[in-house]
Amino acid sequence: MTTAPPSSCDICVVGGGIVGIATARELKRRHPHVDVVVLEREDGLAAHQSGHSSGVIHAGIYYAPGSLKARLCVAGARRLYAYCEERGIDARRTGKVIVATHETELPRLAELERRGLANGVPGLRRIDPDELREIEPHARGIAALHSPATGVVDFRAVTGALAADFESAGGRVVTGCAVDALASGAGSVAISHSFGRTEAGSAVLCAGPWADRLAVTAGADPDPWIVPFRGSYLRLRPGRAGLVRGSIYPVPDPDLPFLGMHLTRDPHGNVLLGPTALLAGARDAYRLRRVVPRDLAESLLWPGTRRMMRGFWRTGLAELRHAVSMRSFVAECRRYVPELRREDVERSAHAGVRAQAIARDGSLVDDFSISVTGRAVHVRNAPSPAATSALALAGVIADRVESVS
Ligand SMILES: Cc1cc2nc3c(=O)[nH]c(=O)nc-3n(C[C@H](O)[C@H](O)[C@H](O)COP(=O)(O)OP(=O)(O)OC[C@H]3O[C@@H](n4cnc5c(N)ncnc54)[C@H](O)[C@@H]3O)c2cc1C
Repeated sequence: MTTAPPSSCDICVVGGGIVGIATARELKRRHPHVDVVVLEREDGLAAHQSGHSSGVIHAGIYYAPGSLKARLCVAGARRLYAYCEERGIDARRTGKVIVATHETELPRLAELERRGLANGVPGLRRIDPDELREIEPHARGIAALHSPATGVVDFRAVTGALAADFESAGGRVVTGCAVDALASGAGSVAISHSFGRTEAGSAVLCAGPWADRLAVTAGADPDPWIVPFRGSYLRLRPGRAGLVRGSIYPVPDPDLPFLGMHLTRDPHGNVLLGPTALLAGARDAYRLRRVVPRDLAESLLWPGTRRMMRGFWRTGLAELRHAVSMRSFVAECRRYVPELRREDVERSAHAGVRAQAIARDGSLVDDFSISVTGRAVHVRNAPSPAATSALALAGVIADRVESVS
């Protein structure tokens, strides 16, 4: 990694999460002689969402057929498994079941099956309660979907490997460099940052939870604004980790872009339960009580937040209950793993903050969203499954960069 940014470069990528690093690597692969520089504010890579995820390689079940998420998740997962094999990263197809526990969930389960099949999810099939018991002996439901291609990986390790590829191809990564603003001129973009200024031929903003602020400095519409949602986790005590073999998910609420609290065995054999989804006081609220006044004020003053809250206040209260009460958290997961007891779990230090883009009208932006100001490409919404999709998403972002250069 480099310690100071250059005064000029051909392409500047802002953000050293998995999306920024995969994009920088893709640009360098396509254009080996082009000077590509990544500027990252933190001292290391994958310091935010990419290093605080559930670590699930999604297979592409949930997403509306034809959406970017549907296309890029299926293609991204395939490429991610191949990449991990090539680079010796432990990526396991541990499999996943989505469990319906009540008849009212069956139409939604059928819709998920339809979507998954339309999206080309490998091996996806409907299973009955007996098959569910064979695959996940401690899960109970009246019907389920089984996705054998879902897996787990450490996305921090993947980001590190992608950065190593990028640097060995001649790319530069500068950490500890906070970008404040950018301004597009006729043939370049001026990027001001904590070291001064870099003049780039074009720029790509992959700033995750801070994507909206940078876009606004470049003259973009504030709509959609990012509102942070904190996800906390519990962990099964080591003696009870046998309750889960792969991943057990509920049938999600179709109105929300979150997948519901799930139980997932990570590559190290720990089983995490979660995440919750609670409106957070900061874009980096890894601790429950962390509040950054500017972040909180902007979330609450954004018209979309108030409209969203009016529609989802019941869900908000339930999430608050899960966040503060382990009993309530466990009760939710017990719906699909009835043996689970309060004594089986402990709090996990692992927590993540989702960058949820909310439109002015209060709708939660679901699909990946990429927009342009002058010679700058902004990734405005890259929520889950962007980590899974990163290798394929990078191709789409690189196409946009080529179109503005
Ligand atoms: C709780 C949780 C669970 C998830 N689970 C999964 C999962 O199981 N599977 C999956 O596929 N996805 C999952 N996701 C989603 C996934 O983590 C994200 O979609 C993905 O990591 C987004 O990557 P990113 O590079 O866009 O953002 P980030 O990883 O957030 O990176 C953005 C980077 O930009 C930098 N930055 C921001 N502003 C500036 C600035 N002004 N100057 C310089 N640098 C800046 C930040 O420091 C950060 O490093 C989960 C997310 C969360 C929060």
